[in-house]
Amino acid sequence: MMLKNKRATVARLGKRMLAAGLTTGTGGNLSWCDRRRGLIAVSPSGVAYDRMTAADVAVVDLEGRRMDGDLAPSSELPFHLALYRHRPDVAAVVHTHSVYATTLACLHWEIPAVHYLVGFAGPKVPLAAYATYGTEALARNVVDAIGSSNAVLLANHGMIAVGADLEKAFAVAEEIELVARIYYQAKAVGTPQILPEDEMQRVMARFRSYGKKPLEERPQTAQNSLKIRARGCPGA
Ligand code: 13P
Ligand code: ZN
Repeated sequence: MMLKNKRATVARLGKRMLAAGLTTGTGGNLSWCDRRRGLIAVSPSGVAYDRMTAADVAVVDLEGRRMDGDLAPSSELPFHLALYRHRPDVAAVVHTHSVYATTLACLHWEIPAVHYLVGFAGPKVPLAAYATYGTEALARNVVDAIGSSNAVLLANHGMIAVGADLEKAFAVAEEIELVARIYYQAKAVGTPQILPEDEMQRVMARFRSYGKKPLEERPQTAQNSLKIRARGCPGA
């Protein structure tokens, strides 16, 4: 089976998307691109996440030609492909209809730096103009709006999060939904205080090393993997 592990991860994170309340029914979609081979594992169109298997996940190339799998890829393939073309740093795309992000998208609002966690996406989350779902027009609007952000709201529709792998893109979607909820609630009772741009730049710089071990504690540096190989370690 082509892209076996990536297809299994797409199916597993689809179930997590549902369990985390980031979407309902068959809404939203996910993809993970193998940049080296130029292939993409993308969730099938209109299939419920709770019964989606790895074999149901479609495989397409970067032009969208079907390479493996019996089911049609997501109707939103145009914006997945457009994002991979436009953003070489991106290898995974998660699209949700999460309630708070979508509420703000229905108001045609962006999400400002109301909480430092917006830094998972950037100094703010921009808004892409409305176009019918599944169209090249929507793909164009997404690419026009996203810039270097890791998330974008889709007017009257939902949210897209991107990342270097599917777990990372999923984490962006979860954190941005939390920030959207906080913004909504803060707006409901008062005037949210927005963090200044220079503070968001500091936050994003700190995020780059957040959760990473200092270099000397990492077990598999290039040097020590060479040593392992030299010792004739099994499987090396
Ligand atoms: P698919 O089931 O075709 O992926 O469509 C769901 C969706 O969210 C469309 O925007
Ligand atoms: Zn959608």
